[in-house]
Amino acid sequence: MRTGFFWDEKCFWHAGGNYALTLRIGGHVQPLVAGGLPESPETKRRLKNLMDVTGLLAELKSSSAPAASFEELSRVHPESYLHQFKEMSDNGGGELGLRTPFAQDGYEIAALSAGLATAAVRDVLSGKLDNAYALSRPPGHHALPDFPNGFCLINNIAVATETALAEGTAERVAILDWDVHHGNGTEAIFYDRDDVLTISIHQDHNYPIDTGDVSDQGSGAGEGFNYNIPLPPGCGHAAYIETMERIVIPAITDFAPDIIIVACGFDASALDPLAHMLCTPLTYGMMTELLMETAADICDGKLVLVHEGGYSEAYVPFCGHAAIAQLAASDTAAPDPLAEIMVARQPSLRVQAFHSTLIGEMAASFGYD
Ligand code: ZN
Repeated sequence: MRTGFFWDEKCFWHAGGNYALTLRIGGHVQPLVAGGLPESPETKRRLKNLMDVTGLLAELKSSSAPAASFEELSRVHPESYLHQFKEMSDNGGGELGLRTPFAQDGYEIAALSAGLATAAVRDVLSGKLDNAYALSRPPGHHALPDFPNGFCLINNIAVATETALAEGTAERVAILDWDVHHGNGTEAIFYDRDDVLTISIHQDHNYPIDTGDVSDQGSGAGEGFNYNIPLPPGCGHAAYIETMERIVIPAITDFAPDIIIVACGFDASALDPLAHMLCTPLTYGMMTELLMETAADICDGKLVLVHEGGYSEAYVPFCGHAAIAQLAASDTAAPDPLAEIMVARQPSLRVQAFHSTLIGEMAASFGYD
């Protein structure tokens, strides 16, 4: 398997400033340390480091990529926003939206993050690679065209998708967002389109608090091409696999895309501080396996995972390693240090009847029984 791994040291340099100030914590309790933004480089760096230590990284075709060009970025974001972002970035950084602080050179780093995703998609579509992982940072899936939010400044996957469509290397793209938060930016960008299928599995009304309902299914030509699958807190391995099998895989198969792109957050993990799900590395490996089988059936195996959220410094490296080892069909493993605890203590590894009922109802509402 020729699996690409796109990363760049500079993506780890994106700095979000002091989140303690944003949250106005303090006064009644010791303020959080400066730089305490939950979206830190450490989760990403530790994933890459774990891959170094196990040897998995050496098995992949690892490289950086050029930053996305202004032309590529402007296929998704208005030029006025890009100019404003660049100017503020040149002047030391700031905040243009909601919970998206950035420092000096934030624009260049965000363009590089989008460039990693774009290169991964380009090289898989051209056949240079079989599949790929882009360790993009900052993440992208919450970014609206003219309003950054939720740590996301540029919608990396939307830029990669629009570039593939513009270059004529794909006519239909399926985007599955399994980050635990709703992929509201990606949904909004493609909401009226029938050439891009968007599916989001997320914790019900976690972030953003007011988007991601089942009833939001697209508009105009895009009617029926947006799937929201909000799950209640406490869903784990069994619920996620059941959701994949009963809704996601049938929907992607029916759509018959030229490539599948995953907004790959690891914040549905059992240790994540920003959500309340119970997934484990096993879950991410198995969801990747299901998508690889689907991609092999319908689009010559073309599959790209683009890193999004995931805030547990302890568990993201293992969740990511499981997904990437699966992608590369590698036997190189990083055994989950918490596997026994998770299996023994978490009923979510087994099927819960009420989760099954809920997933079944959503499947039926989408026409999959
Ligand atoms: Zn997230």
